[in-house]
Amino acid sequence: MSVPPEIRQEWQELVQEILLHNRLYYQEDRPIISDSEYDSLYHRLVFLESQHPELSTPYSPTQRVGERSLEQFQKVDHLFPLYSLTNAFCTPELEKFVMSCRKALELPSEEPLHWVAEHKIDGLTVALQYKQGNLKSASTRGDGRQGEDITHHVPFISGIPLRIPLHTPELLEIRGEVFISKKDFQEMNRQCKEKGLELFSTARNAAAGTVRQLDIDLDIPRPLQFIVHGVFPQIADTYQKATQQLIAWGFCYQSGGQLCLGLDDLIDYYHNLQEIRDDIPYEIDGAVYKINRFDFQDQLGYRTKTPRFAVAHKFPALQSTTVIKDIVIQVGRTGVLTPVACLRPVYVGGVCVARASLHNQDEITRKDIRIGDHVRIQRAGDVIPQVTEVIQPLRPKSAVPFEFPQLCPVCQGPVLRLEGQVAYRCVQGVQCPAQAIWALRHLVSKESLNIKGLGPKQVKFLYQMGYLNSPADLFKLDSHKEAWINLPGWGQKSVDQILSSIQESRHVAIDKLWYGLGIPQVGQATSLVLARAFPDLQAVKNLMHKLNQEQSQDEEFLTELEGVGPLIAQEIKIFFVAPGNVPLLEEFFSYLAPTPLKDISQVLKGKTVVFTGSFENGSRSILEQQARQAGACVSSAVTKKTTYLICGQDPGQKREKAEKLGIPILSKQQWEEVLQKDILNHS
Ligand SMILES: [Zn+2]
Repeated sequence: MSVPPEIRQEWQELVQEILLHNRLYYQEDRPIISDSEYDSLYHRLVFLESQHPELSTPYSPTQRVGERSLEQFQKVDHLFPLYSLTNAFCTPELEKFVMSCRKALELPSEEPLHWVAEHKIDGLTVALQYKQGNLKSASTRGDGRQGEDITHHVPFISGIPLRIPLHTPELLEIRGEVFISKKDFQEMNRQCKEKGLELFSTARNAAAGTVRQLDIDLDIPRPLQFIVHGVFPQIADTYQKATQQLIAWGFCYQSGGQLCLGLDDLIDYYHNLQEIRDDIPYEIDGAVYKINRFDFQDQLGYRTKTPRFAVAHKFPALQSTTVIKDIVIQVGRTGVLTPVACLRPVYVGGVCVARASLHNQDEITRKDIRIGDHVRIQRAGDVIPQVTEVIQPLRPKSAVPFEFPQLCPVCQGPVLRLEGQVAYRCVQGVQCPAQAIWALRHLVSKESLNIKGLGPKQVKFLYQMGYLNSPADLFKLDSHKEAWINLPGWGQKSVDQILSSIQESRHVAIDKLWYGLGIPQVGQATSLVLARAFPDLQAVKNLMHKLNQEQSQDEEFLTELEGVGPLIAQEIKIFFVAPGNVPLLEEFFSYLAPTPLKDISQVLKGKTVVFTGSFENGSRSILEQQARQAGACVSSAVTKKTTYLICGQDPGQKREKAEKLGIPILSKQQWEEVLQKDILNHS
């Protein structure tokens, strides 16, 4: 089976990128991405090669053991290759690893396999060679076979004995991690800041940067520590016994070492480690599990770069780097245009991510995100990943600033951005396929036309059948009746119910009609205000034509209505002047005979009401206006004469006072019921 071209392309890009990071890290000592970000790239490469083994050529970074060392340093040959560890990023990967070990060792299912679990300290691996008990050299990992000599740093690293007992093998190599503790790292950076020096980004970079210096005359003391995690040749028959021997010789061993009996134990260890991670004095990026018995280790042996008997169980990296392949625009059900980055797939926190939200134009401009950019992305919880920053040094020369489209990508309608808002919006409403279903659902909902039997699912179905594309189509549904009742899931009864409910909806109350139009920012309370100002179809049509005739900014007269601000006025204008909306609404209105609002004036005459607290969408002023229209006196203080106190959220002392005086306290809903009841009594 040949490799699909897009996979080959992705593989090539990954290889180039990983080689670049290898060079920056190993040769130039200035990594621009974190280790976990590097791991994500590497993990993806390994995944691609496991799916398409023909990609795994000798040129792939997965087949090359490290990179060449720094030229200036003396070289030290390791006694035995210093391997890196295979990573497991999730429980299934760990399970697979454990099972493969058991299988290779041909262990009967009832026989436990003992592991030693340890913290995976986020430091720098260092190998110490002892000859006849005397420290001969200290070196970095280098390419795994040959490291850089850092012996001159040993006096500044705590936890390295200069002599060990003579009865050890003639030549001994002890491996461990050199790191700076969290506390010391903070202190170092504090001193750097004081002296106006550049701060270190991480404790690991500080430790690595320190031992890579040829000159040990450093401005700031750098308290390096060494903790053992390996020895060659073997000095005992198990890893656990070997570490005890090393401790006896004066080495430091971590507090995290623990014997585990099998997969369940390892998983428990990992979960516990995640919980106590912040309390551990040094940075860790996961757990390491090694088979305890050395004879088992020998039996399993090594792959090209990694041992078969040990694995690093990494914490999910919530950050990663990838490339923006494209930026596409999604249109939401309310018409908001959201730019979305199409990413080269990458693992973040154990999940393969191919898309990230870019939010809006401002965000893209602020971060200067371009197609082709290498970017850092971040996942928090289950939220869609975010692009946190562009890695500027990797920007391709051909990358140009992203320009937002002037037309809706779904319906080609005009795109608008209101003053003071960040989002661009398609204003075509029900005419835009991206918004149509939602707009129609809103129109037939209980709060508006109240068409029984037409739920979200049914609206979607009728839209997809082509029966219901615009509001006026509701009244033409009976022409499809014959075909409709024979469709699966439908019948004479259900269709008749809908058709008769549609007939009733012709007499929808005028405020509910206003609400059903789905004008952004116009909720039920504002609809009531608009229904009083434009109380019948003729008034609504006159308004529509007026807004279509006059020049811009002439919607200001709408702001004279209580509860209608400049933003709502603007939305009303945009709605009525959107291309195609006039004929669409004219046709819809031609089927309607709305019920006018009842005259509520004077139903609460002589009564005094007080409002306190805040109400949904800041509708308090509208409620107060309603009360005045009903003839009530709206007062600001609770007295014995108060008829009702209407309470919103977070009411003040007025509530206590009303309770003391025994005045009825109403919620918004109870208030509306009172108003309705009084209207009924009155009419
Ligand atoms: Zn559109």
